[in-house]
Amino acid sequence: MKFGGTSVADAERMRTVADYIARSVRRGNRVVVAISAMGKETDDLLHLAGQVSDTQPGREMDMLITAGERKAMALLCMALHDVGVPADSFTGSQAGIITDTTHTNAKILEVRADRLREALEAGRVPVVGGAQGVSTMRDITFLGRGGTDTTAVALAQALDADACEIYTDVSGVFTADPRVVPEARRLKRLSFEEMLEMTAAGCPKPAMRSVEFARNHGVRLHVRSAFTWEPGTWIKEEDPDMEQAIVSAVVSDNSEAKLTVAGVPDRPGIAARLFRALADRSINVDMIEQNVSLAGTTDISFTVPKSDLATAREVSVALQGEIGANDVLADPDIATVSIVGAGMKTHPGVSATMFEVLAGEGINIEMISTSSIRLTCVVRGDLSEKAVVALHRAFKLDGE
Ligand code: ASP
Ligand code: MG
Repeated sequence: MKFGGTSVADAERMRTVADYIARSVRRGNRVVVAISAMGKETDDLLHLAGQVSDTQPGREMDMLITAGERKAMALLCMALHDVGVPADSFTGSQAGIITDTTHTNAKILEVRADRLREALEAGRVPVVGGAQGVSTMRDITFLGRGGTDTTAVALAQALDADACEIYTDVSGVFTADPRVVPEARRLKRLSFEEMLEMTAAGCPKPAMRSVEFARNHGVRLHVRSAFTWEPGTWIKEEDPDMEQAIVSAVVSDNSEAKLTVAGVPDRPGIAARLFRALADRSINVDMIEQNVSLAGTTDISFTVPKSDLATAREVSVALQGEIGANDVLADPDIATVSIVGAGMKTHPGVSATMFEVLAGEGINIEMISTSSIRLTCVVRGDLSEKAVVALHRAFKLDGE
């Protein structure tokens, strides 16, 4: 069971969670808990670090941030003791989570879960601090934002758990963001592939890395609410006997920006030069589009996280002369709108319908990208909600 920050935001919520765990234990389940820092604690610690120092060395940042989860796990154990459940807290290091040496965003290499197994054998509930481990250099490491999901999935895999339950502040994965589309429905199940495409397209939860890990190791995920406790969304392997929905969900993302390098000569090596330079600055490019014009030049457009736009622009402008481009245009006011569905790969006409729906709303499509189960369009940022509402309706996602 993974509990996110809002699920344990204050003392009362902490006791509610303890009570829920106790019920599960009394029903005969053997439970391991992964817990996040309370409420906005991680943000607060990051903010505090920013006030104290400009340098923020990774090793010390990780030591600082993981303190949030450490506090939460100790408090949850106390609450569990109060309701008669024997429980022990473990840091990531004590739980045997071994990571690489990349501070602030470490990767799990191995889980040596002996101590957790011993605790379970002794009838105790291990409560593990999320998003943390110990590096091969014996330093404390942080797994990155949303890392508690990864901790939970890794523990589920190491302990061969029946399922990994992700308790959060939403009651599952929805056909669209319910704040934008009130008719959005909670999905009963999704395949790993669909969930991965949705997270890549901007669905904020669960964290993408944890879904990748779950898919790679076949860990069944159950995303559900720590407020209503009702059954949520199961994410597991595609069921070959079941018909796949053509479109399962509509997702939008306002966190990207677009850059266009215009009028570059159409010859080998240009894209290579440009994207190598961007990679060297660790800029994560998402969509890329290039088209040859009749005049023998091409325009290359690509999207990057908004936070990388300034650097990406700087890199592109610096190369403008060398690659012979006419212009570099930066555009932060875009959004991506995506539809995702496993059935799409065997159904013709899905893209045509999507484009017609957008056309019907008078929304111009600026870029298009696809995978076998996803279609993404770049549109003006302020039109993304309108696009999501229209697509959700057109693909009848509000009905069973
Ligand atoms: N507390 C960390 C964060 O806010 C880790 C987590 O919640 O998964 O990112
Ligand atoms: Mg969190």
